Amino acid sequence: MLYQRRSALFSEAEKVIPGGVNSPVRAFKGVGGTPIFVKEAKGAYLYDEDGNRLIDYINSWGPMILGHAYKPVVDAVVEKAKKGTSFGMPTEIETKIAQLAVSMVPNIDKIRFVNSGTEACMSAVRLARGYSGKEKIIKFAGCYHGHSDSFLIQAGSGASTFGTPNSPGVTQGTAKDTLLAQYNDIESVKNLIDANKGEIACIIVEPVAGNMGCIPPQNNFLQKLRDLCDAHDILLVFDEVMTGFRLAKGGAQELYGVYADILCFGKVIGGGLPVGAFAAKSEIMDHLAPVGPVYQAGTLSGNPLAMAAGLAMLTSLNSDVDIFKRLADKTEYLHQGIHKVLLDNKIVHTINRVGSMISVHFHSDPVTDFDSAANGNNETFKKFFHGMLDAGVYIAPSAFETWFITDALNYEDLDFTINAVNQVAKTL
Ligand SMILES: *Cc1c(COP(=O)(O)O)cnc(C)c1O
Repeated sequence: MLYQRRSALFSEAEKVIPGGVNSPVRAFKGVGGTPIFVKEAKGAYLYDEDGNRLIDYINSWGPMILGHAYKPVVDAVVEKAKKGTSFGMPTEIETKIAQLAVSMVPNIDKIRFVNSGTEACMSAVRLARGYSGKEKIIKFAGCYHGHSDSFLIQAGSGASTFGTPNSPGVTQGTAKDTLLAQYNDIESVKNLIDANKGEIACIIVEPVAGNMGCIPPQNNFLQKLRDLCDAHDILLVFDEVMTGFRLAKGGAQELYGVYADILCFGKVIGGGLPVGAFAAKSEIMDHLAPVGPVYQAGTLSGNPLAMAAGLAMLTSLNSDVDIFKRLADKTEYLHQGIHKVLLDNKIVHTINRVGSMISVHFHSDPVTDFDSAANGNNETFKKFFHGMLDAGVYIAPSAFETWFITDALNYEDLDFTINAVNQVAKTL
């Protein structure tokens, strides 16, 4: 592969953008080397500035579930753009996408659109606090809910009750209201509830964790969270920014049959434009301004371009009866194929998969939470990543990310990928 132009573009970028990127993982810090600069993308493929074609397993971190430059979305955006890109006034298309989203997702009456998953989660927690009159929240180590202050808390010393900020700039005052539990460990949640009786506004969770690799909920974890929330008058918030409109029409709620009180969306819901949303029953949503006292706003929220892209995407997903089965079948095929060649090459590994989310861990034990995800062999992952890249396959440049399968992938692409894993495995 030719790396020259990519390096030149990156050094130019580094002069004017911190680290050369507008979002940190893109900088390849986890794997070393210089990031890819994308020129264009179509279907399952990325074309970089060096002229390479890459099979894309990240798909903009999820949104491009039907492939890049998906025609109905592109056409919808182009048509809307000709009529003006933002008014800061109500438009009919906002109601249309809201009606469709509410019809697809269980247990919600109303939805509000924002500009990112971060905003969705931040606003959902503010709403939970405003509605309940309580201040503390429980989150899980290794779950990501965007970069707002309350969420930038990870595992400090495992035993500590109060989180410690893991980013400078997050105050101790904010950190003390975020309590950390362990994913898939219901006892860790019970202990926090007992130690903070009557003070917890909500538990926020990725119903399938996707930001420490893909980690499914185990042993009825979601139902147990629901039961604890009901018993202690705590709101359950599902952050479905990754899983929403990906695992099923109704997301993880539909897949697992467990309903949350507040839902957060992003990624797929915007069809590749900057969109997030949060939703709940009217009783909760009507606490938001202008009806209620909880303030939340956005100059570009619900803008026509974003809504056109999101509406076209949701319409396609809603009308395609086998889409989620097709995606899951492709992902299972990839899973079996990669598992077989890694086994043949005697590479220690664990593969996790739910629907169209999958992750490969270079670890012999089950990966069920942040600690087990962090125990994978990162040196092997780095070699694997660069080997796959050289073979023309783009996976996430971090061992802590899930791969996102797109329907644009065909079985030849999957075979090509499995074959590439086989070749790369011989070098590990
Ligand atoms: C990506 C993601 C977010 C943040 O969304 P942004 O649009 O990047 O702000 C929040 N929660 C989860 C589960 C995510 O995967």
